[in-house]
Amino acid sequence: MRYARLETNDMINGEGVCVSFWTQGCPHKCQGCHNPGAWDFDGGMPLPNDIRGQIIKAISANGLTRNFSVLGGEPLCDYNIKTVANIISAVRIAYPDIKIFVWTGYNLEDFNECQKAILDKIDVLVDGPYIEELRDITLKLRGSSNQRILQKGIDF
Ligand code: SF4
Repeated sequence: MRYARLETNDMINGEGVCVSFWTQGCPHKCQGCHNPGAWDFDGGMPLPNDIRGQIIKAISANGLTRNFSVLGGEPLCDYNIKTVANIISAVRIAYPDIKIFVWTGYNLEDFNECQKAILDKIDVLVDGPYIEELRDITLKLRGSSNQRILQKGIDF
C-alpha cells in the first residue's frame, strides 16, 4: 500500500487536534474532486514499515493526546482496506478513548464485510462520494450535501 500524507497536528479534519493519515489511490474519481492527486494507486509514497508506530507515537507527542483521522484517496477500497483496518486496530488498542474519524466515498449501506469490520473500532464515518452539483462550502467535514457524518451508537 502507498500513502499520500501524514499530518501530525491537523486542526481541520476531525475534532480538536488530530493525527491525519491520507491513503493513496481512489477508484471513485468524483467529478470536481478536491484531491485528484490521490487517485493514482502508484502515486504518493510507499508506506513505511513502522507506520503504525509513527502514528501511535504522534497521537500523544508533546504531552497532548490527539484524535485520529483517516482520509483519502479511498481508505476503504480493496487495495487499502486491509492495511487501514490494521492501522485502525492498532490505534484503537493503544488509545481506547480517542475519537477515530474515517472518510470514504462509499455509502455505508453498500459496505462489504471487510468494510463493516472497521465500524466497531471507529467513532465517526463521513460517507458517500463527492457530488459536484451538491457542493456546499458551509458543510462541516464534507464537501457535498449527500455526504453524511455518521456516528457510532447512533448511525452504526
Ligand atoms: S472519493 Fe474523495 S478522493 Fe476519491 S474521487 Fe471522490 S472526492 Fe476524490
